[in-house]
Amino acid sequence: MVELSDDELDRYARHIVLPQFGGAGQKRLKASQVALIGAGGIGSAVLPSLVGAGIGRITIIEDDVVCLSNLSRQSIYATDDIGKSKAALAKQFAAERNPYVDIRMKQERLTVDNAEVLLAGYDLIIDGSDNFMTRLAASDAAVKLGTPYLSAAGAQFQGQVALFTAQPCYRCFVGDAFDADDCDNCAELGVLGALTGTMGHFAAMQAIRHLADVGPADTGILHLYDALNAKWKAIRIIADPACKACGEDAAP
Ligand SMILES: [Zn+2]
Repeated sequence: MVELSDDELDRYARHIVLPQFGGAGQKRLKASQVALIGAGGIGSAVLPSLVGAGIGRITIIEDDVVCLSNLSRQSIYATDDIGKSKAALAKQFAAERNPYVDIRMKQERLTVDNAEVLLAGYDLIIDGSDNFMTRLAASDAAVKLGTPYLSAAGAQFQGQVALFTAQPCYRCFVGDAFDADDCDNCAELGVLGALTGTMGHFAAMQAIRHLADVGPADTGILHLYDALNAKWKAIRIIADPACKACGEDAAP
């Protein structure tokens, strides 16, 4: 079991004082390894929360550079960062925020071909990517690896977050129609920065609940946020027996 130094006990004092969390919850976070796909609107809200919370190791998977239209929602980047690597900037941001977190980066685009290799060896995969093709590749790899997969997304005024472990999986929810859909939802549809921020921070909360093992399990539940009408709802996703990732006839 990992131990916490005096400095870490101070740093995480507001967590440790929580009776449902305590030193045991903090140690479970420190022992956790997380892959974060995407350092865009969702990722740049997930990252500060997870880094501040003291996750042991976070690997950022991102191949993009900062552009001007990112800055309305991707709050870890500054105007001077335009044209620079998001993965490198996100890593620097995280390292400055908490030296006790082991931050790594993979400057690669996740695809069907490399997803299993990129995502092997983590306790949780958090997907903040902006298109269905990447999400389905990541989810299918997560099912094969047996790794919990937390999906977070937001477009226009609608946000969603769901944690999947084995069955149902993300593909049970969206089906097979989007495997070739790599369009950037934000560019196509528009999005408010506060929406991706809200969903990213909520995803970080769900990740912390899962990794620290606090609160009831919440797998297979889709949390939907309608920002225009300020309404949240949660629905249970039904496993699809014919799902080609997790169903009876899924390829081994
Ligand atoms: Zn499935």
